[in-house]
Amino acid sequence: MPRPILATIHPAALQHNLERCRQAVPDAKVWAVVKANAYGHGIERAYPGLRSADGFALLDLDEAERVRALGWRGPILLLEGVFEPRDLELCSRLDLWHTVHCEEQIDMLAAHKTNVGQRVFLKMNSGMNRLGFTPGQFRSAWSRLNALSQVAEVSLMTHFSDADGARGITYQLDAFNRVTQDLPGERSLSNSAATLRHSQPPEGGELASDWIRPGIVLYGSAPDHPLHTSAQWALQPGMTLASKLIAVQTIDTGASVGYGSTFVAEQPMRIGVVACGYADGYPRVCPSGTPVLVAGVRTRLVGRVSMDMITVDLSPLDAAGVAAGIGAEVTLWGRAANGTLLGIDEVAQAAGTLGYELMCALALRVPVQVDAA
Ligand SMILES: *Cc1c(COP(=O)(O)O)cnc(C)c1O
Repeated sequence: MPRPILATIHPAALQHNLERCRQAVPDAKVWAVVKANAYGHGIERAYPGLRSADGFALLDLDEAERVRALGWRGPILLLEGVFEPRDLELCSRLDLWHTVHCEEQIDMLAAHKTNVGQRVFLKMNSGMNRLGFTPGQFRSAWSRLNALSQVAEVSLMTHFSDADGARGITYQLDAFNRVTQDLPGERSLSNSAATLRHSQPPEGGELASDWIRPGIVLYGSAPDHPLHTSAQWALQPGMTLASKLIAVQTIDTGASVGYGSTFVAEQPMRIGVVACGYADGYPRVCPSGTPVLVAGVRTRLVGRVSMDMITVDLSPLDAAGVAAGIGAEVTLWGRAANGTLLGIDEVAQAAGTLGYELMCALALRVPVQVDAA
């Protein structure tokens, strides 16, 4: 028998989450963001759940080729644009739309020999200071692009730094709207957090999103956890990470568990040993107390996470009279067989990080299956 750890991808949940985005911004087209191998879910596995999107947005050219290989004939957008001139050949051949965020990318386009006009998304750096032209540079970049015979159509985009937090989007939205007001072309502004939290534009502002760009919400994580949980946003987990108990120890008061003896029992208790560790992508920094489901019952991690194992407190199961021995189901995040949910955001919070990082860090050695339901 293989080691019992298993990740399950839930395409029906991805589809549900995509519909949530459509409900939030009914008039917008949806870029399903599938960068980083669909946030660790696997592009091929996620695709059946996301094929009702209007387009796929990603970074890597090989990921674009994989989406085309799945039979997708609609739009694909390269979110960081091209990295070198020959990438433009592939854009022409695979009909990829691409972001233009710097002068060097305009130079590459100007030198590109093609009969096929390219569809580009000109990116404004509206305050985040990662990619894009500043508001002061934006219009001249637009004019330069618009004059190129290699360019068929210019759309406009920006990216929000604080859609999930207190600062909000207004400071960037104002800059974007002020500069682009009279420019033609489709707009793409909202990530997941803006899609769910700012679909009603702020007083006086206009949030014209012809194309929204949700990523994390498609996979069932709340973009603003712990302010809201995924359940409060009516999102469903796109991934379950499950394993089993492979050993059980009964220990006395004062006995310690695991490396560094960081957990010491305050009363006699049973400890379950789970086949899952940091080499599977479970964060080593998760402290004692991190939530875990055993047989669908909520309990906690105790002691340090090791490479291949974690140890969990079986007292809540014993107290409830739930039998849990070797072979019992353990849910690290996602959905247990009895339907109980454990949000990936809760585990991420215990680790001091985000659901994004946990999904993307699922280790290669973990087998992955696709939920047929
Ligand atoms: C990753 C990314 C998104 C999606 O962000 P989420 O927070 O996952 O919704 C949208 N736009 C751009 C440019 C991105 O790089």
